Amino acid sequence: MDDYEVLGVIGKGNFGSISKIIRKSDNKILVWKELDYGLLSEKEKQNIVSEVNILKELHHPNIVQYYDRIIDKKNKKIFIIMEYCEGGDIGKIIKKLKKANEYFPEELIWKFFIQVLMALKTCHNHKEGKILHRDIKPSNVFLDGENNAKLGDFGLSRMLSEENNFAVSRVGTPYYMSPEQIEDLKYNEKSDIWSLGCFLYELATFNPPFTASNQLSLALKIKSGKVESIPNIYSQELSSVIMCLMRVNPENRPNVEEIINYPPVIIRIRERKLKEHYIKIKKKESDLEKKEQIINLKEEEIKNKEKILEEREKENNLKEEKLENKELELHKREMIIEIREKELIEKEDNLKKKMKLYNNSIEKTSKNIQKQGPIPLPQINYDLNKKINTNSNNNNLY
Ligand code: ADP
Ligand code: MG
Repeated sequence: MDDYEVLGVIGKGNFGSISKIIRKSDNKILVWKELDYGLLSEKEKQNIVSEVNILKELHHPNIVQYYDRIIDKKNKKIFIIMEYCEGGDIGKIIKKLKKANEYFPEELIWKFFIQVLMALKTCHNHKEGKILHRDIKPSNVFLDGENNAKLGDFGLSRMLSEENNFAVSRVGTPYYMSPEQIEDLKYNEKSDIWSLGCFLYELATFNPPFTASNQLSLALKIKSGKVESIPNIYSQELSSVIMCLMRVNPENRPNVEEIINYPPVIIRIRERKLKEHYIKIKKKESDLEKKEQIINLKEEEIKNKEKILEEREKENNLKEEKLENKELELHKREMIIEIREKELIEKEDNLKKKMKLYNNSIEKTSKNIQKQGPIPLPQINYDLNKKINTNSNNNNLY
């Protein structure tokens, strides 16, 4: 129970309240039906548990999905966890339309009819054993957010009142009880078909086909099978299909497969299939369009990136060219430096050679000088007397 949080009570049934709940693990909105089992026998309790276990295995878009049941021993309660149907039940819608003096459009009746028929097909042909609904009536057919019918509230009321079919105080007046039930014969899938006929009749007229102030006269009316005709705004086809489903003798009543093959039914089933197919194709088409848009956007993105890359490549090429030019220049300079270096070395060599020659000549000269002895002083012929004489006139030093 800790796995769920109660959002609020949304309805009261004959056996307990219905609450909207949220499953904490994935935030899924569901409902639970709360049943007091304090007054139930052990067998009745067991019946409910095993029935829910079977119902959990029924999966169909037109059947209210059962998920789990929780037994609260302390408070003597059973909680049956089911799919939430946001459109409520058809019983309530009938009341609203009746008040507003409006009728269901005929095609909506056919739609509900075929959807409940498909649900019954799944139940009556269930692999692990036939499942009978036992309580088809407007208040047990629910609607989802798109006005799709879902058969719900399977046989629980029957299990709780098996002993007494006419327990009005507990299960309400059994307006939809089939003639064979009244005869106390075994309930079989044909009894579900009878109830389906009653359900359609009520959709068209807003009243159950048989009503009476006491159960004895109700039973008599049901066994006679005589009903007032449905409003003439509806087609003869609809009227005759309803009458077929409400044939008093169960053997003359069609089973699900036979109903499906009635021309007005099969045509509508095919029409619905085509519509669904069309919707699927349209959806695929729009999905494809969306994918195409995404691909186009990606393509544009790639093109833009390509452009940026191209520009970068150009920039890089320019840079590379510049670098190459610089390299060339550097290479030239290097060559010039090399040539200069060579020239310098050559000059150095020449200088060295000259130096050597010069040194050699110096050496030679000095050797020659040594060989020749001291170099005679150059002869200077001074006329000393002349010199003195010239000076004697004006100088008496001597
Ligand atoms: P009853 O015992 O008369 O069949 P229920 O217990 O089935 O009544 O339902 C009581 C109220 O709760 C009704 O108004 C019904 O519309 C609503 N209800 C029951 N089951 C669901 C569901 N699965 N989703 C939404 N509303 C529901
Ligand atoms: Mg109900």
